Amino acid sequence: MNKKTIRDIDLKGKRVVMRVDFNVPIENGVIGDETRIQAALPTINAVLSQGASLVLMSHLGRPKGKGYEAEFSLKPVGEHLAKLLGRPVTFAPDCLKAQAQAAALKPGDVLMLENTRFYKEEEGKAKTEGLSEADAAAAKKAMKDKQKVMAQTLAAYGDVYVNDAFGSAHRAHASTSVICKFTKTNVAGLLMEKELDYLGRALENPAHPFVAIIGGAKVSGKLEVLQSLMKKVDTILIGGGMAYTFLKAQGHPIGKSLVEENLLDVAKQTLAAAQKAGVKFMLPVDNIAADKFDAAAKTQTVGQDIPDGWMALDVGPKTVAAYQAEIGTSKMVVWNGPMGCFEMAPFAAGTMGVCKAVAASGAVSIIGGGDSVSAVNQSGLAEKMSHISTGGGASLEFLEGKELPGVAALDNKN
Ligand code: AMP
Repeated sequence: MNKKTIRDIDLKGKRVVMRVDFNVPIENGVIGDETRIQAALPTINAVLSQGASLVLMSHLGRPKGKGYEAEFSLKPVGEHLAKLLGRPVTFAPDCLKAQAQAAALKPGDVLMLENTRFYKEEEGKAKTEGLSEADAAAAKKAMKDKQKVMAQTLAAYGDVYVNDAFGSAHRAHASTSVICKFTKTNVAGLLMEKELDYLGRALENPAHPFVAIIGGAKVSGKLEVLQSLMKKVDTILIGGGMAYTFLKAQGHPIGKSLVEENLLDVAKQTLAAAQKAGVKFMLPVDNIAADKFDAAAKTQTVGQDIPDGWMALDVGPKTVAAYQAEIGTSKMVVWNGPMGCFEMAPFAAGTMGVCKAVAASGAVSIIGGGDSVSAVNQSGLAEKMSHISTGGGASLEFLEGKELPGVAALDNKN
């Protein structure tokens, strides 16, 4: 990785402002899953143990951007973090009015800011509906100017900026990238470093055979990642709802399975491109079809032709066996998207079968994308994976070959 990290700089006595991804599920002030907080602890502890003070900032959920909303407050997260760290965490109830609290911090002190998205400047998106082109351009410019002011205010809380929020790195927000214009030193945290290291290896220096397992609901959501990975991998295994657009493109009847009619030509082109690139592009050879989208539906195992009135909701056992054989001989695996509607027990076998094979393969395994991560957690095999990305959208955009603004803004290694 060519970006500087906290390992490359001396933090003793420094005032660190750090963007973390504490976007955790909270209901009535109770945190449902602390994974994201845990994931930031190594960097937080590394910063504090070097004798720096720390201002933490994050977004939580999707507030309206018009000020405080109790359900999106980060206060419970600050309290939870204090317990995990075993030291006090003071809280700033307005992220842009924390100057005095930040200035009072001593080495080892931690200040958690309230949700950055309580200000619409964080995302920096102007409302332009109904405006003329000229007015829309002016509204956009005014919002970008306000975003810079917000970023400058946040930057002034410290003298070193650390970004450990990989999950938000694909966004050009005030606290994720614009802030770097106003801080002299901008470095990655340890979680960010680990994410970039694993995902970067997949694109730059993959071990072969390299297998990509791509599933999920739609071709449209995964087209760019397919096109990008096509240049790197030996084999692509397709599952999930997107498989049926490919099967239809090959002339198979697909009953009432999910399909994107407008992408049939693109699916054909993708199949042809794989053949040209010498990539083995595998589609399900059998499927679990249901008479309705319901956990209590009638089901039957069918081949590549889905009968009229039925919808395929999982890949079948022959497909699982074929995919397991490919995964078993691989040295590197990237997996994004489930093989079927794994949230419903009758349609989870395909995803779980793939999950077991990845866990047993001994390959470097990189799991990205929210649903594949939930599936891996559900399987109990998470420990066996090399890397489970904390950023669904960010990991997908990275694998698509796009530059992530939150990463681009960090200092390069000399
Ligand atoms: P994505 O966010 O694109 O990775 O899609 C994940 C979603 O795709 C999950 O909620 C799955 O239930 C859904 N999914 C997987 N397979 C199918 C299928 N065969 N038909 C409809 N939806 C599916």
